[in-house]
Amino acid sequence: MKKWYAVIGDPIAHSLSPFMHDTWFQENGIDASFLPIHVEPSKLKEACESLQLLGAGGFNVTLPHKQAIMPFLDGIDEAASEMNAVNTVVRNGKNFKGSNTDGDGFVQSLLTADPRTDDKIILVGAGGAARGIAFALNRAGFSDVTITNRTFRRAEELAEETASESMTKSDAEQNLGGFDIIIQTTSVGLAEDEALPISLENAKTGALAVDIVYNPIDTPFLKKAEEKGCRTLNGVGMFVYQGAIGFEKWTGIKPDTEKMIKVITEKLGGNYVNR
Ligand code: NAP
Repeated sequence: MKKWYAVIGDPIAHSLSPFMHDTWFQENGIDASFLPIHVEPSKLKEACESLQLLGAGGFNVTLPHKQAIMPFLDGIDEAASEMNAVNTVVRNGKNFKGSNTDGDGFVQSLLTADPRTDDKIILVGAGGAARGIAFALNRAGFSDVTITNRTFRRAEELAEETASESMTKSDAEQNLGGFDIIIQTTSVGLAEDEALPISLENAKTGALAVDIVYNPIDTPFLKKAEEKGCRTLNGVGMFVYQGAIGFEKWTGIKPDTEKMIKVITEKLGGNYVNR
């Protein structure tokens, strides 16, 4: 029987996951398809039961369901538990198990820019994505991570959980020149006229500025970072690697990430840089 997978969210029409996974199925000769499914929050339980009943091989979960889905699954793994959010669901017999591949996907993307594990890193934001990234940086051996966030209490809490440091936004802005890697994980950056979540005035030339937002591909944060002479890394890599980790969980196959990053970058109107 033909296998099928899905992504559920609200909205969902913009998602690039169906394109990415369908391409990988084709490239790897797998007879499967990947469907975008619009699920309103009030229908999440029924949707999860339907995916189970109709035999989905697994599915991705996007906003706003990443936390709300958890009670409807048969279990969650360590990454999902650390992040308190699920972005990938894997079928094991009759069970659906929730995982989260965002943090490890981020680190795989970061590694393409050749960081050193003793680089001084500042993580801007303390939301769901920042949680996954902070834990994954920790697992990958990055030893000098500082967290800053608009709501400072959340930065302090996440720093405590991940044995990192915390800094208020104003201190972080003043001391930004001391950081080798600046990671922007807030939801700011989607609109041109939004203020940056952190001023880059004091960023040091040659520092690596990373934005996890990938649409638009050239965010105001990355544009400003370039002006300040920073190297930049956009969010496409994280998106592709988080998907690739999920694809491997579903199929046992590692898909071609390099080619996908190039295709998606171009689809979003960006210029692909082979680092
Ligand atoms: P979230 O849990 O809602 O967290 C939002 C974060 O943004 C919080 O730290 C919040 O600070 C901060 N924030 C929101 N508005 C702000 C503003 N005006 N000024 C300063 N800080 C502000 O969201 P999330 O799930 O972490 O997602 C964050 C972004 O990452 C989204 O744009 C998402 O699309 C992107 N993302 C990308 C990938 C990828 O594959 N590339 C994967 C996952 C997520 P407070 O705590 O003060 O509210």
